[in-house]
Amino acid sequence: MSLTRHGRGADYELRRIRMVARLAQMGIHRAEVLSALASVPRHLFVEEALRSRAYDDTALPLGLGQTISQPYTVAIMTQLLLGEGPINRLRRVLEIGTGCGYQTAVLQMLWLPEIYSVERLRLLHERAKRHLRAVRSASAPRLVCGDGYLGLPERAPFDGIVITAAPGQIPVPLLQQLAVGGRMVLPLSEGNTQFLWVIDKTTDGYRETCVQEALFVPLVSDA
Ligand code: SAH
Repeated sequence: MSLTRHGRGADYELRRIRMVARLAQMGIHRAEVLSALASVPRHLFVEEALRSRAYDDTALPLGLGQTISQPYTVAIMTQLLLGEGPINRLRRVLEIGTGCGYQTAVLQMLWLPEIYSVERLRLLHERAKRHLRAVRSASAPRLVCGDGYLGLPERAPFDGIVITAAPGQIPVPLLQQLAVGGRMVLPLSEGNTQFLWVIDKTTDGYRETCVQEALFVPLVSDA
């Protein structure tokens, strides 16, 4: 029996190594990002019936109409969040849209000192907490159930903010909670299409860069 278990674990590991090799070919070049993706057991973040597809480069359903983003999306958002500078620029990071907690786990494997993640659906928030217990790292992310549009003013300012659901406009409270020198990565809906944006907050204001097309579930907010 333990043979089967080991066999399956090794199989997942092999698929994960292949996934990371594919991501490197697709333009993910930061070693920290590739090594974080190599160390998170993505199959533990999806339902059992979907585990065999966990390392395919595809989004998968999480239930409640939500999805786990495809690995490339998580990788590129993480790489954009880091930018080209040293990783220790990011001391305090906020994620909006915890979902199953996979992106949170990747941030955790970058050993960032402070990670916060907000999810509005309680069921997913609770599930993400369980999933993240399976990931060992020095930093423990703090998961919050609530409306991420509002951010976490009591923990601000953040050096990095990553939004994994698409709003129609940049949420103003989140812009305000970004530190000077900080960076926000988010998808923005424009009609029927979405684009991934990077917003840098500088002493002179904001610098906005459109990166590429994107596909996310909508950011839902009462605010
Ligand atoms: N980060 C996830 C992606 C989850 S999908 C991953 O790693 O795969 C986006 C998530 O954003 C969904 O779980 C959805 O419920 C959540 N969401 C949507 N609007 C939100 C809001 N206003 N505040 C917090 N979470 C929100």
